[in-house]
Amino acid sequence: MTIEDDRGQDHSHGRSHEHGEMSELSDTQLRVRSLETVLAEKGYVDSAALDVIVEAYETRIGPQNGQRVIARAWADPDFRAALLDDASAAVNTMGNVSDVGSHLIAVENTPEQHNMIVCTLCSCYPWEVLGLPPTWYKSVPYRSRAVLEPRAVLSKFGVTLPEETEIRVWDSTAETRYIVLPIRPEGTDGWSEEQLASLVIRNSMIGTGLAQRPGEAKGDS
Ligand code: FE
Repeated sequence: MTIEDDRGQDHSHGRSHEHGEMSELSDTQLRVRSLETVLAEKGYVDSAALDVIVEAYETRIGPQNGQRVIARAWADPDFRAALLDDASAAVNTMGNVSDVGSHLIAVENTPEQHNMIVCTLCSCYPWEVLGLPPTWYKSVPYRSRAVLEPRAVLSKFGVTLPEETEIRVWDSTAETRYIVLPIRPEGTDGWSEEQLASLVIRNSMIGTGLAQRPGEAKGDS
């Protein structure tokens, strides 16, 4: 269920029935609302529990978690090794990052291989470390083109890689999620984890971007 984009900022759900309220909702929001109401009435879901989950993803769980993970991997060789060995376990050793439930795999970018993440089937995404997926990640063009012509997709994101760099595309599933460990930018020797984290843009952890260089304006598309 795509609670990430369909529930929006409105937490009143289907339990309130003020007139006029529903008319402001999109078809998708109405469908989600109806579905949630039916499931709640049948006792399959608890609306209060859903509120807690949505609130967490809106306020506490986002790319900042992944940024901390990547920064630590750059700064600490032992953590980097642990992350590449078992990303779920490694991330769960960090007190300041939410627990990873699904099977998380970290794939490391090198000059020889660039990694890119997609879910060709739907929108599977490492929520615990990256928060809610961007709209383009769920779009049909990205999901199909990422596999067929990854280099063209990368250029749309402003990323041009050397011809000799192989691009490897990883297809996420409900059970297995990926996070890209980008190449640490040059000119960052001696930087603290906090400083390093500031260079880790979200797209660099999906593989549709690179880590920012020192002094480069921060931004995601
Ligand atoms: Fe999916």
